[in-house]
Amino acid sequence: MCGVLGIFGEIEVSAAQSLLQLLVHRGQDASGLAWVDPYKVHRYSKVKGAPASIDIPQELTNAVIGSTRYPTLGNRKGDVPKEKFAQPFAYQTTMGTLALAHNGNITNMHDLTEKRYQSDAEFITERLGELINQEGHLGVALIQLSKELDGAFSIVGILGTQLFCFRDPQGIRPLVAGRSQAHTVFSSESICLQQAGVTEIIDVQPGELIYVDGKGDWQKEQLVKPTNVAHCYFEYVYFASSVSTIEQRNVYGVRLALGNELGDELIKNGVAEQIDAIVPVPDTSKAACSTLSEKLQKPLREAIMKNRSSKRTFIMPGVDERELAAKAKYLFVDEFIQGKHLLIVDDSIVRGLTTKYLVKILRERGAASVHVAITCPPQRFACYYGVDFGTDSQLIAKNDTPVDYVKDQIGADSLTYLSITGLQSAINLPNLCLACLNGRYPTENGQRIRLLITEGKLPQDQTHYEISHTK
Ligand code: SF4
Repeated sequence: MCGVLGIFGEIEVSAAQSLLQLLVHRGQDASGLAWVDPYKVHRYSKVKGAPASIDIPQELTNAVIGSTRYPTLGNRKGDVPKEKFAQPFAYQTTMGTLALAHNGNITNMHDLTEKRYQSDAEFITERLGELINQEGHLGVALIQLSKELDGAFSIVGILGTQLFCFRDPQGIRPLVAGRSQAHTVFSSESICLQQAGVTEIIDVQPGELIYVDGKGDWQKEQLVKPTNVAHCYFEYVYFASSVSTIEQRNVYGVRLALGNELGDELIKNGVAEQIDAIVPVPDTSKAACSTLSEKLQKPLREAIMKNRSSKRTFIMPGVDERELAAKAKYLFVDEFIQGKHLLIVDDSIVRGLTTKYLVKILRERGAASVHVAITCPPQRFACYYGVDFGTDSQLIAKNDTPVDYVKDQIGADSLTYLSITGLQSAINLPNLCLACLNGRYPTENGQRIRLLITEGKLPQDQTHYEISHTK
């Protein structure tokens, strides 16, 4: 997952940097900005780490794009400087310099080129640049690009001095747009637009191009018919900021509804009556815990607190790093743990390391029992579209692993997942990607890879990039 931002209209580059910092929850491995300077020349500044550390001059610009990077490819072992993978990337075209940042993953990149890219944003920039040179037209180039690419790609770009954004025909990753009197803003999430004073915010439609023309007006073109639209449910459950609204659904509101649905499951399976208190695993599950507490008539107690000096574990690149970070990430309030029957609530169990650690620590600190509830169903299959579980083998609940096995692995007294129907009901959108839950991938190449794995023709421990390599 990554975050992207684009702004048209006079603005200090440092103000764009502050807005980009609001997307740090979508990635903090590397960040970058590209802007058009007063001489209409493209400038770039990229760093390892969060946007706040990007080095920029005091300068006004009329067009700027930015990215926060979350690695799902390249630089996993840390043997290449992280800033090398930072977006935006650049390509010289006959229509001016193209600067581009993207969020998502392309499943067939290595089927399309002999060059072994370590970043699909770099690949998309170069391929779109080539197509612009070939077609002499941005819209036509994007139509051709959409025919070639399989996967998720929410793009913001500057071509010459023109700002544009484009969303893949399935609309897998979010992309929103809006205008204030002075600015047009595109972003992965509405939090940036809200902070920029934009009040009317729309979702960029799957397959839609929005660009700012020479007069500063925006033009919308439905370049590609939306097909098999599949918005990622995990944005609501885990990734997006609670402040943001995606597809007209406020993320905080959805999380409240997730808690309500989970309450039904806990009443049904009898866990509700066995607990003294509900303990959120901070921060994502806090909203769900507030409605869950109301529904079960059990107190919410923040017995696990976040150590604010540590990083979010899921978006750290290596497993070892995550294990270390899990230890540093949480602090505990013993008075609300000792002798209590606790229900800890988290947004997901991906590899299981954090949950296992929390259950163990709560027991060591004197909890009478530790039950676990999760605000989404078990992730059983790899994500090929930009979330960092690119192989089935990374998942503790992979394929048809029994829930009881996961419960035993994490050491909990009970484990309750939200059902798929509960999840769908809470999000209340007709077109969701649920591929990591049910194995039904919304894109052709995603389906092809899944079929080959199911038939045993491809190993479960290879990412789709490696699969393309070995094809
Ligand atoms: Fe989101 Fe899962 Fe689909 Fe990936 S496979 S895009 S995580 S729903």
